[in-house]
Amino acid sequence: MPLRQYQIDLIRDVKQSYKDGKKAPCIVLPCGGGKSVIVADIAKRTTDKGNRVLFLVHRKELCDQIRDTFTRWGVNMELCSIGMVQTFTRHIDRLEPPTLIITDENHHSLASSYRKIYQAFPDAYRIGVTATPVRLDGSGLADVNDALVIGVTVKWLIEHHYLSPYDYYAPSVADMSKIRTVRGEYDAKSAANMLMNRTIYGDVISHYRKLANGQKAICYCATVKHSKEMAAAFSSAGIPAAHIDGETPKDERDTTIVQFRKGVVQVLCNVDLISEGFDVPDCSCAILLRPTKSLTLYIQQSMRCMRYKPNKRAVIIDHVGNYSRHGLPDQDREWKLEGQPKRKKQKEPAEEVLVKSCPECYRTFPPKDANGQRMQFCPFCGAKLPMAKREIEEQRQAVLRKIEGFVLNYDSPNDCTSYNELLAYAKRKGYKPGWAYYQAKKRGMI
Ligand SMILES: [Zn+2]
Repeated sequence: MPLRQYQIDLIRDVKQSYKDGKKAPCIVLPCGGGKSVIVADIAKRTTDKGNRVLFLVHRKELCDQIRDTFTRWGVNMELCSIGMVQTFTRHIDRLEPPTLIITDENHHSLASSYRKIYQAFPDAYRIGVTATPVRLDGSGLADVNDALVIGVTVKWLIEHHYLSPYDYYAPSVADMSKIRTVRGEYDAKSAANMLMNRTIYGDVISHYRKLANGQKAICYCATVKHSKEMAAAFSSAGIPAAHIDGETPKDERDTTIVQFRKGVVQVLCNVDLISEGFDVPDCSCAILLRPTKSLTLYIQQSMRCMRYKPNKRAVIIDHVGNYSRHGLPDQDREWKLEGQPKRKKQKEPAEEVLVKSCPECYRTFPPKDANGQRMQFCPFCGAKLPMAKREIEEQRQAVLRKIEGFVLNYDSPNDCTSYNELLAYAKRKGYKPGWAYYQAKKRGMI
């Protein structure tokens, strides 16, 4: 398979980056953009010149897969070592010095094991790849990389038929705001405890039936126990499902994946085994049952069902509000080597509403229309959207700001012709805004 034009452009940009004096750029390309063939191509160019490549992988499940891709691509495997970073660090002194170190899933690379290898070979050029050059706490990769080489966006890939378009639904099944946070991430156990009950299983299954019935789905759960129970619940509802995790014996895992490919298994439950790079057959639905603060994890899981197929529309069913923390998968994001500006500590849900979800049809959409006005009706089903508490407060504040500076001289609330005027009246009289709200409501003004 030849490289796509945008992949060729990226490789050219990487070369340019070295010419500009950089030693460790990081390629940023969305999931599904074909990162593995890009690094395979770079590795081949390196070994073709007789130079040595060291490829750092962070999951053992990926080593064979990458080896296959590299071999197919014509990389000279005698000059290329692929392995787990932990394994390499155990015998750094026995490693042949590489000319190029490739780091897969580069967002992990601040971990000390990666740094040990980088420091052992200070003369080696490096290249990293990731879809999300950002860490859990929002910090960037400036400590290990000296440039970002940014490729096309998710939107672009959808528009050019390299990824499937998607519909994003967000039916909530439990109140996720009470889950504990441990070291910056939601505590998986407390999330699982909240999600492990019959009624919730029933809700998840009925939403799957309603929104993606019969489609091949990958279901991401909070813990292994949760995942096993979810698979059992699907199965007992007559929807063939299976669970796999990192401890599942390889034979069994392979069999399950073959069954999933054939459609014998329809819903494949896991925790985070099926993340970036882990090859599973095509599916068209992702069910999110694991709340996460990690943008990387969110992007990897939600986009797993977007592999391109003609006429396909992927369905993402987010039961845990991940969209409200991270926005939609194809939202434009500005990547910086230094990371994202630290957000203030915030209460849940996130202060800034990135995406809204319809209470009737569960579809998601931006909270404001093209004119910057708050969406009052669902653009998909037309349902009237309730205002969030915060929005009611915001509107009240806006009205108050607007009327400040006006001198209104009404003698009685009956003279007021709008909610704004009632608010102004209330303010002048020292009444609470709730009074104006009540009066306006009584008069049918709101
Ligand atoms: Zn709707």
